[in-house]
Amino acid sequence: MGLFSFSSQPTKSPLPKLRVRNTLSGEIEEFKPLSPREVKMYNCGPTVYDRQHIGNLRPYVFADTLRRVLEVWDYRVKQVVNITDVGHLTSDADEGEDKMEASARKQKRSAQEIAREVTEWWLGDLDELGIHREKIIFTRATDYIEEQIALAKALEEKGYAYKIKDGLYFDTSRFRGYGKLGGLNLDGPKEARVKENPEKKNPHDFALWKLSGRKKREQEWDSPWGVGFPGWHLECTAMIFKELGRQIDIHTGGVDHVSIHHNNEIAQAEAVSGRQYVRYWLHNEFITIEGKKVSKSLGNTVYLSQLIDRGLSPLALRYWYLTGHYRSPMNFTWEALEGADQALTRLGRAYLEAPEGTSQAEFLKHFYAAVANDLDTPKCLALVWEHIKKLNKATLAETDKIFGLGFAGERPSAKLAIIKESELPEGVQKLLAEREEARVAKDFEKADTLRAEIEALGFVIKDTPEGPKISKS
Ligand code: AMP
Ligand code: ZN
Repeated sequence: MGLFSFSSQPTKSPLPKLRVRNTLSGEIEEFKPLSPREVKMYNCGPTVYDRQHIGNLRPYVFADTLRRVLEVWDYRVKQVVNITDVGHLTSDADEGEDKMEASARKQKRSAQEIAREVTEWWLGDLDELGIHREKIIFTRATDYIEEQIALAKALEEKGYAYKIKDGLYFDTSRFRGYGKLGGLNLDGPKEARVKENPEKKNPHDFALWKLSGRKKREQEWDSPWGVGFPGWHLECTAMIFKELGRQIDIHTGGVDHVSIHHNNEIAQAEAVSGRQYVRYWLHNEFITIEGKKVSKSLGNTVYLSQLIDRGLSPLALRYWYLTGHYRSPMNFTWEALEGADQALTRLGRAYLEAPEGTSQAEFLKHFYAAVANDLDTPKCLALVWEHIKKLNKATLAETDKIFGLGFAGERPSAKLAIIKESELPEGVQKLLAEREEARVAKDFEKADTLRAEIEALGFVIKDTPEGPKISKS
């Protein structure tokens, strides 16, 4: 790239056309929303049976980055993220046990208690990662049972559903173009699924409503087909219809959702509405460890709280995600995270030392060209580092509107240098112990007063699944 003119230029140059890779066409396309200035976006959210790990967190940072890009491009964004607290079975193909019920049984606690706890942890993680969660509409599946039943009923009335012993199923052979997302191979080796449920008419048919039968369930509802619970795919579509309408601009999720979950969403939505459901499908690739997908079932999970325990900034994880393209798999190592943490600190220092001035249009032109090219965040970071010595504060602040790393003061860096309890002044140790006692006794008022006392002494407390963590404010 040639030399930039680094004179400060007050005028903002026009932004290039935004282009994204649409899983539906397999091509990079120009982004054109349904209405000129508003974007409706839905991001598949967590199943709250267990804590979200560093693989799960990638899609939310990706969705937040996308939202930031859209806002810089001057769109208003209406964003919905679901919280799955019922119906997601241990196999995406409608077999196995409901993950929430299984977790409740294992932990000998109620499914809703677990859901609440896991949701709180997850929301805390979103905060740590600089995600603008105050802008998101969160929807819990169990709050939309009525809408899910209504949608299943509409499908039944239109002849797209049939009832068998264990529930109401969607007949995929009735929907022309089933499996169009990601080129699902319909002739593939799916016989196993038929064997598991011989009553299904076609191997890819999926449950809209499952009946409890003789199984003892904690979460179940009455329906026209009997007592049971909604299918996981139905949930996303019912919530989209209710909160965003029958056609939306963007739908995101991890690549594991393409073949079954999202193809099923398309089928049930378009069968009812007769219109295109989603215009742009965007999917993030996996985070791996030693080449294997990070997943609870493989037991190779790493959590954000572990990063914090090691004294790393949670935003180092965001930085590290940004060093890879969202459509590339990334392999997690502690060395990579430590490198990201150092780079983040250097970036913060560079910002503090950068001269004042108005934003540098020539540099930003190249920067936005990389953003517009399907969110090429690695290129964006490379550009910043290449020219760091010449960039002023205003320009760096513009880049951080996309990065969301907080170095330009959009929000204070959430860096927590965790202090061991034994290293705390005695008075603080005592207050901390009293606060824990109050918390255990669910005397939250007292706990809050004690927190305020601790904070007045110059410490910050953060409650994590492993207990409170304390750092210097
Ligand atoms: P879940 O809570 O299992 O429904 O997953 C939440 C989100 O994380 C979904 O969008 C998944 O596609 C995504 N996901 C799960 N594992 C990984 C991984 N190892 N890397 C990236 N994304 C993942
Ligand atoms: Zn979904």
